[in-house]
Amino acid sequence: MPFKSLGLSEAVLRGVEAAGYTEPTAIQARAIPVVLAAKDVIGSAQTGTGKTAAFALPVLTRLGQHGACRCLVLEPTRELAAQVDTAFRDYGRFTDLRTAVIFGGVGYGAQRDALKRGADIIVATPGRLLDLMGQGDVNLRDIQILVLDEADRMLDMGFMPDVRRIIEKCPKQRQTMLFSATVPPEIESLVKWALHHPENISIGERRSPAETVTHAFYPVAATQKFQLLVTLLERTNFDSVLIFCRTKHGADKIARRLKQANHAVAVLHSNRTQRERIEALEGFKSGKYEVMVATDIAARGIDVEGVTHVINYDVPQHPEDYVHRIGRTGRAQKVGDAFTLCTSEEAAAVAAIEHFVGQKIPRLQIDNFRYDATAMLKGDAPPPDRRSVHVARTSKGFSFSPRRRR
Ligand code: AMP
Repeated sequence: MPFKSLGLSEAVLRGVEAAGYTEPTAIQARAIPVVLAAKDVIGSAQTGTGKTAAFALPVLTRLGQHGACRCLVLEPTRELAAQVDTAFRDYGRFTDLRTAVIFGGVGYGAQRDALKRGADIIVATPGRLLDLMGQGDVNLRDIQILVLDEADRMLDMGFMPDVRRIIEKCPKQRQTMLFSATVPPEIESLVKWALHHPENISIGERRSPAETVTHAFYPVAATQKFQLLVTLLERTNFDSVLIFCRTKHGADKIARRLKQANHAVAVLHSNRTQRERIEALEGFKSGKYEVMVATDIAARGIDVEGVTHVINYDVPQHPEDYVHRIGRTGRAQKVGDAFTLCTSEEAAAVAAIEHFVGQKIPRLQIDNFRYDATAMLKGDAPPPDRRSVHVARTSKGFSFSPRRRR
């Protein structure tokens, strides 16, 4: 189905062509006509499915020409806000519509200027938006279209009260779209409160990793993790690799050691300044850095074209994060690989991931690597799960009892 048949404006179609897209992805084909018909939407789709264009293209078409500030898009992180803002500018380059991007961690000046010049679309993270609303720099009275992107992530990050306060300041008569990979009860209640007879658009199996990704576990002793990482990098023909670590400290440490091993490395986590984060992302996108080491903030939504490999240095603690992390590669049908290093201590997290994705993930060993231990290689008989033991302080010291699994 060509883009032309979906009802987008000429100017937006030119933007799509300039972006190099030849045909709509599944979510675009489903969502664009519904958004153009001004209906409310709940969208769930795998990462990398083209979700941003699925709402941005019809929004640009609906807005048509420069006027009042009529569309608000809320995003959980600064990086996502910046990325979605760029997408709107790209797709809307043949229109006279203007966007303003608003997020914390940087000065107010440029954001205030963009608002003063007049924006049709605001892409914002909740905290700074409320801040600017409080100072009278933003008024949401003309909002006709509200997009709540990555709603489950906003929930995880504790933004729900802020999101609700913002929605209360928007006119009741509006179109609302909510995108969320999962719909926990809190999101369901938000849907009931903020959306009106929404159309459900769900693409693909929500839980499965992107289909084009081949993924495997690499069991290893904790003491050999870094060595295995370096060997994997040496033996892999990659263009760009994203490495995920559990902690900021761990990310810094691995980046330092990889630099010593002569890799061009960027680091992305929330203790870095906004300027450092932008430099890291830009450098990774441009190819200045071949490796980016990140904590989970980078896992959701960040679109870095051509990520060929994802390596989980630590097994993600939440199975959903596994799907999101490895969703960084294989975006929009490009093939990618995802490796997860795992130690016997992480057996429970491995089992939880396999349960979540509903499949057994292969365990692989690399040739000519001197393994100290190959626990879990067959994937059977996981060692005792330490986290399933509840430790309580008693008057006599500590007591241990089995913890009920959630
Ligand atoms: P998203 O899921 O919105 O983050 O998009 C994932 C990636 O797919 C981005 O790099 C987009 O530029 C790309 N993309 C979106 N729509 C299309 C399309 N129709 N054809 C090819 N690539 C696309």
